[in-house]
Amino acid sequence: MFPPRMQMNSAPAIEAQSTLTCPHCGHQAVEVMPTDACQFSCECRGCGVVLKPLAGDCGVFCSYGSHPCPPLQLARSGAAFSGSCGQI
Ligand SMILES: [Zn+2]
Repeated sequence: MFPPRMQMNSAPAIEAQSTLTCPHCGHQAVEVMPTDACQFSCECRGCGVVLKPLAGDCGVFCSYGSHPCPPLQLARSGAAFSGSCGQI
């Protein structure tokens, strides 16, 4: 049994892992995202294609991940943002 995850109002919960789904082969990989920046490209471990963000997205996690990049999660939660994501 695990205790329920604490949700504190002062510190928005950021999902640091995102499941990337390759649009070419459908391969899924759980990746750990940098918490203060966006990852622009990522090589698929299934077919080897280098994933790039879709137009308007700041990183591969925003385009193909189950969670957007941490800076975007922070921005959506209303927290002040001082990272390096250029789309915010
Ligand atoms: Zn692939």
